[in-house]
Amino acid sequence: MTSTMPQSGQPTLAHKIDQLAHVAIKVGLGLKAGQELLMTAPLDAVPLVRRITEHAYRAGASLVTTLYTDDETALMRFRHAPDESFDRAAGWLYDGMAAAFKSGAARLAITGANPLLLSNEDPNKVSRANRAVSKAYRPALELITRHEINWTIVATATPAWAVAMFPDDTPDIALAKLWDAIFQTSRINVSDPVSAWKEHDADLQKRAAYLNEKRYATLHYRGPGIDFRLGLADDHLWMGGGTTAGNGVYCIPNIPTEEVFTTPHKDRADGTVTATRPLSHQGTMIEGIQVRFEGGRIVEARATRGQEVLQKLIDTDEGARRLGEVALVPHSSPIASSGLTFLNTLFDENAASHIALGQAYSSCVRDGDKLTPEQLAAKGANDSLIHVDWMIGSNKLDIDGITATGTAEPLMRNGEWA
Ligand code: ZN
Ligand code: ZN
Repeated sequence: MTSTMPQSGQPTLAHKIDQLAHVAIKVGLGLKAGQELLMTAPLDAVPLVRRITEHAYRAGASLVTTLYTDDETALMRFRHAPDESFDRAAGWLYDGMAAAFKSGAARLAITGANPLLLSNEDPNKVSRANRAVSKAYRPALELITRHEINWTIVATATPAWAVAMFPDDTPDIALAKLWDAIFQTSRINVSDPVSAWKEHDADLQKRAAYLNEKRYATLHYRGPGIDFRLGLADDHLWMGGGTTAGNGVYCIPNIPTEEVFTTPHKDRADGTVTATRPLSHQGTMIEGIQVRFEGGRIVEARATRGQEVLQKLIDTDEGARRLGEVALVPHSSPIASSGLTFLNTLFDENAASHIALGQAYSSCVRDGDKLTPEQLAAKGANDSLIHVDWMIGSNKLDIDGITATGTAEPLMRNGEWA
């Protein structure tokens, strides 16, 4: 869409938002003609939603439906709703989403909510509400985590997120800075974003193929506050960049993405891990996380801020204190180079190597999408209502890959590929 490019040659905000929408539809979703699109978005995302909707219809979408969320109305529930409200979720809505995916709809999530929205609310209510949503959303989420449909997540700048990220700036400047950071890290600030994404995707695929050839049994992490051995699931598959979904459509599920990732073995994590970045989880902040694993299970968990939220999170179910994802990201990734903490997992998880508590991606196990939950568990894939990524990478992290025969090979040194 060159129509919004002004004569001066300097791309406007409107033009860049249009480019982001183009990337979301063309690269992120690979939306097919005739396909329905189901989008979720914060109210402040309307300018981006409109551009995405136009690109979707131009690509042949049969119907675009957007479900909006609003931070202010979410807060009203925490302030005024009766106690029993916090064990409820709109199950009918999530069932409807699952029905849409089953009938072929693609899924696009726009992220941008205030990362601190619920930080002053009762952690008990927050965790009950999250649990209720996780339960209700599970059938729909499973179609996503199994990659049965094409899906993607992109970000919009919103005033509340911008102010949380840049508290020392005026709201206008903060918003402009956040948009710029999104465009920079989402590879929109280039003359041809779609080609740039194709190149970047090929790089990530190459990295994943290398690791799949190596077939390491265990990763050994060493760094400040980290001495940790993590076994990988039997028949694990490393993935990075795009993937062909079960419906045959090639999609890149995160814009931006910098990670190669796979499924760890749920019973094979031992040692101490310290988070290198704060974790923003469902409107609350958890900082200074330090945990100790034994036989795959967290046996000690501490946080300097948000300890109670962390404790409730890992108490969600048995799988919540085990790992479902391990991801490698070099410290020189554009997001890490920006020096910014986004307080948003889509960005922060792509700034640093990370691990995730909870649900594993079955697509990261060979033929995983054809296996029953019992077969997946037998290979070591974890099962939980939650999936929460937290960052453990830094420029001081060393990782060795350990082969099945016990030989250690340098994989990352000082946070970069060895
Ligand atoms: Zn990840
Ligand atoms: Zn993850």
